[in-house]
Amino acid sequence: MHEGTIAREIIRTAREEAKKAGMKKIARVKVVIGEMHAVVDEALRFLFDIMKEEEGLGEAVLEIEKKPVEVKCKICGEKFHPEDPVFVCPSCGSIETQLITGDEMYIESLEGEK
Ligand SMILES: [Zn+2]
Repeated sequence: MHEGTIAREIIRTAREEAKKAGMKKIARVKVVIGEMHAVVDEALRFLFDIMKEEEGLGEAVLEIEKKPVEVKCKICGEKFHPEDPVFVCPSCGSIETQLITGDEMYIESLEGEK
């Protein structure tokens, strides 16, 4: 239950942040998730909706922004979006690559009532 763990973590973090900000009610949670995490949006949203009831966040809407995986070749500097889990530079064939984006997982913003 990959998405279940993530949904729980989002709710836990959102509640902490809301408390810090003095929010009584959370209306919207926007998360940024890199494609590396292979999250299925529908599954995450579904589980979030179930868990938010238990956690007293009944009104909260989950907004998901995906970040594509982008990799940079350490040899020739080529930037590319790999199709496979093994990153091979399409320009020079090197496997010495560095991940630029795609492993993000954080709450970007929180909207609610004080
Ligand atoms: Zn290269």
